[in-house]
Amino acid sequence: MKLKIYHWIIISFFLGIIAGLIFKANEKAVVVTYSENGKFYTQKFEVAKSFLIITRKGSELDTLHPKTKGEFLGAFQKHLANIVSVEIDGRKFTDIESVKGEESPIKFLSPIGSLFLRLLSFLAIPLVISSMIVGVASLGNIKTLSRIGFRTLLFYFVTTALAVIIGLIVVNIIEPGKKITAEAKSQIETIDQSQFEEKLQKKGKFDFVDFLVNIVPSNPFKAISNGEMLQIIFFAVFVGIGLTLLEPQKSQPIINFFDGISELFIKMVRFVLWFAPFGVFALIAVAVSEFGASILSTLGYYMFTVILGLAIQFFVVYSLLLIAFARTNPLNFFKGMREALIVAFTTSSSAATLPITFKCVEENLGVPNKIASFVLPLGATVNMNGTALYQCVAAVFIAQFYGLDLNFAQMSTILLTSIFSAVGTAPVPGVGIIILIMVLHSAGIPPQGIGLILGVDRILDMLRTIPNVTGDALVSVIVWKMEKNV
Ligand code: ASP
Repeated sequence: MKLKIYHWIIISFFLGIIAGLIFKANEKAVVVTYSENGKFYTQKFEVAKSFLIITRKGSELDTLHPKTKGEFLGAFQKHLANIVSVEIDGRKFTDIESVKGEESPIKFLSPIGSLFLRLLSFLAIPLVISSMIVGVASLGNIKTLSRIGFRTLLFYFVTTALAVIIGLIVVNIIEPGKKITAEAKSQIETIDQSQFEEKLQKKGKFDFVDFLVNIVPSNPFKAISNGEMLQIIFFAVFVGIGLTLLEPQKSQPIINFFDGISELFIKMVRFVLWFAPFGVFALIAVAVSEFGASILSTLGYYMFTVILGLAIQFFVVYSLLLIAFARTNPLNFFKGMREALIVAFTTSSSAATLPITFKCVEENLGVPNKIASFVLPLGATVNMNGTALYQCVAAVFIAQFYGLDLNFAQMSTILLTSIFSAVGTAPVPGVGIIILIMVLHSAGIPPQGIGLILGVDRILDMLRTIPNVTGDALVSVIVWKMEKNV
């Protein structure tokens, strides 16, 4: 039996999980690199228990007593410039080069994962520009385009709103923030937040008018080189509309040119897919080897709530919408999306998955390029069902954790800001948690609470990217089925 590329991707996915579990980094270990008499040495503490940091402020010395490894690494980074010496389990170091947790022995696979990610991202922009220009131009007129555009945005709004409502319901029923034991509470509170402080300070308020104005690029080439997806979409749609207004003998060569580019890039996607089993293996193995098991158990209820919400959105809401609006068998839909789902999970990035989403939607589900080329890139940027659901669960969880009782107005604020902030979330790994700060601000919840959920964000990011990608594909199928004559 000849295995298809999809089977290889699945196999390598599971092999990656196994490899990650076998070569797990020791969560408790601390590795110190220091110099002595001009030479570098490394010392590893398998289970470091006691820590001490001495810092200098002007002419005064200060002593810090971090209680846990997390606290120690956080304090070390924070006071880096002023550190005089550190002590771990009684052993004193003065000329310290670095202090880190242990790295997994399979960390060396990271470049293979990065290569896969880069290949995907490199395909995304030329593919979007060329197929969107051809797609919009071939719709023939602005009327059809506005109808498709309106339906697309309407369904994006509906699916995101449903996601947020489901999130609010599950988090209010399960109440994960109230189920944290005192012991777990103190453990979570010691998590290193230093990597966040800078981002916390930078992230101000989300300005909706600014956001709209920024959709129009002042220089399309700058937009392309900066990968500004919404600006690129604006550019492609505008050029596409312009082409419909030109005389055919002038517009046709341009359309043919972009059509050729789009075909070329679709061919290149197939080529990159052959590399996918290796990329998926490397990404998943390194990610699993770095997951901290202890934090998983303390935040178990919270993770369960997010995962349950995502599962309801994915299996129930999407199936019902497919049956109601597209008269399509959900099983065929999910089957057709298999490659994209795995790539979404492993890369945690809707943008990187976009080329594979295109392939699945057009080749496996049969959506014409005219529709897919418009709906998918827009969706990858503005439609994030998983992220919206996650942001609202996380916000309520943090409020519950701090013992804040949210009133109806605050719940509604969370609902609305989650919908809009998911639009403003960039489709790349880990942005959802940063944008969450906005949701917290608007509902008056302490933004520092983000530190609580930081430890499990990686896995939830991977999971929420699945509905992010699936929601776009779903809307492309619905819009296509509604456009009978395309
Ligand atoms: N990783 C998500 C995506 O690319 C965004 C996020 O929620 O962080 O779809």
